[in-house]
Amino acid sequence: MKTALVTGAGGFLGSHLVDRLLADGYEVWGLDNFSTGSPRNLTFARTQRRFHLLRRDLASPGPLPRTGVIYHLASPASPPRYQADPVGTLRVNSAGTFSVLQQAMRGGARVVLASTSEVYGDPEVHPQPETYWGHVNPIGPRSCYDEGKRFAEALSVAFAKAEGVDVRIARIFNTYGPRMALDDGRVVSNFIVQGLRGEPLTVQGRGDQSRSFCYVSDLVEGLRRMADAPEGRLPGPVNLGNPRGERTVTELARLIARLTGGRSEIRHIVRATDDPERRRPDIRRARSWLGWEPRIPLPRGLTLTIPEFRERLGGTG
Ligand code: UDP
Repeated sequence: MKTALVTGAGGFLGSHLVDRLLADGYEVWGLDNFSTGSPRNLTFARTQRRFHLLRRDLASPGPLPRTGVIYHLASPASPPRYQADPVGTLRVNSAGTFSVLQQAMRGGARVVLASTSEVYGDPEVHPQPETYWGHVNPIGPRSCYDEGKRFAEALSVAFAKAEGVDVRIARIFNTYGPRMALDDGRVVSNFIVQGLRGEPLTVQGRGDQSRSFCYVSDLVEGLRRMADAPEGRLPGPVNLGNPRGERTVTELARLIARLTGGRSEIRHIVRATDDPERRRPDIRRARSWLGWEPRIPLPRGLTLTIPEFRERLGGTG
């Protein structure tokens, strides 16, 4: 049987990946300490015989199951959450990644590392190709995440070179969809919650900074293709994100205000330190190496997301 270990299985992205692997016929071990993820995200998975929950901290995980593939997603990922636990964030991305790679070395597993567009920092080139080395502040408030992921990438290529581990590095750009934590502080979840409550949407600074937003099912498809690609097919990291989903924060606020009922105004608040100015993936590698392309445009993805948020908010709004 096809077998997979997913670290960070209780997170937004991890739980959607788990559901997809189960649908694809995998036996799945999902590891999480639920520091930022939620058991509720695994409600469906836990009804399945082929799913096994490992409630553990990946930094000291004990014996791990031997599987054909490991998707390594464990890490706090929203700026307020990783900044609330900078040491834990560095620890899971260093010691946690070490555990994953050692396990892959022992068991012959293929690894898909969930890296991030944050490795590019506040980028000086736009859009960002994988060949760009980035512009990262190593001691700023975002450094625990940025440098944690950069270290995870470095460790992965070291294990690939020294130990022959087959690691594929996915650099994931902003992704959204159902199951994002209501209070994780990201722009999409904040705006949807505020819009549904009829509260002002909190735009940081002038709101002319941009992000590119990818719907979760597209992202999961990209991760699956990365894992399934034949050995040697991916000679470097691959950006996964939706270049057509680029919007300024103000544009996003207007769109979400409209889709959530149009009762909210925009309120400008202080801009976070080191907040990247713009971000859009160059996805030529994903297109040519994986035949992958995001399918869900931003307005459609938001329409698929908002009802699930409304349900969790208990019908308010
Ligand atoms: N942002 C905002 N209001 C919010 C949350 C975020 O204006 O309530 C902005 C933030 O300044 C950043 C962008 O939205 O420019 C994306 O932030 P997010 O935390 O979603 O993710 P990031 O891409 O920065 O990791």
